[in-house]
Amino acid sequence: MALRDSEESRSRQDRLLCHPTFWHGGDMNAPIAPLRVAVIPVTPFQQNCSLVWETATGRGAVVDPGGEVDRILATAEREGVRIERILITHAHVDHAAATAELQRRLGVPIEGPHEGDQFWIDLLKQSAEQYGFGCEGPFKPDRWLGDGDTVSIGDQTLDVIHCPGHTPGHVVFIHKPSRFAIVGDVIFQGSIGRTDFPGGNHPDLIHSIRNKLFPYGDDVTFLPGHGPTSTFGAERRANPYVSDAAVKRR
Ligand SMILES: [Zn+2]
Ligand SMILES: [Zn+2]
Repeated sequence: MALRDSEESRSRQDRLLCHPTFWHGGDMNAPIAPLRVAVIPVTPFQQNCSLVWETATGRGAVVDPGGEVDRILATAEREGVRIERILITHAHVDHAAATAELQRRLGVPIEGPHEGDQFWIDLLKQSAEQYGFGCEGPFKPDRWLGDGDTVSIGDQTLDVIHCPGHTPGHVVFIHKPSRFAIVGDVIFQGSIGRTDFPGGNHPDLIHSIRNKLFPYGDDVTFLPGHGPTSTFGAERRANPYVSDAAVKRR
């Protein structure tokens, strides 16, 4: 695996991804977007950890703290964000290894993933050691999440969608008013999540994407766990695994 860990590449990525005004929300005429997002690529896997906050109040959440807690906290300080909770899409090491440390330092609740990922939580420390990065140990979610649940960021409400396939307990967060989703490793620009890990299931993953995410609409922009953002519409047109044409061919 190529590591893009140099200071140069890191600052380039920060400039590219951390510009909070990138997110204008769904309503182009709205004077102020309700939510802002800073993306902080962490760990040797360059996982898109995100800091999401309510513009009006500065109340926020960290989604998928895989590592580099100091960097996450520095971003929050720079943007004037008060972190009130930690949200987890799934318990793979690059998404969740620093959850316990972040909770210890902030004393805020952990919400997610779905309880199907308990076995991945149990494996966190071991996997982190395998890949050579830090992990204080497993974490204990204050709240498991599932279909029909919502989570709050300030006074903003995000839908929770259980999307098994990459892991059994993977969840996705969607803020409908902004047409914005955080999808972890369910779908990427031009690709989908791996299903060859323990508990992975390819048909479940395709079903999750086609039947649970795409109905939210082509205009939803999503931030995946790795790589650039895309929209559900662009992936329905061109994603080789889940486009309308790809599904028809089967
Ligand atoms: Zn993953
Ligand atoms: Zn990942």
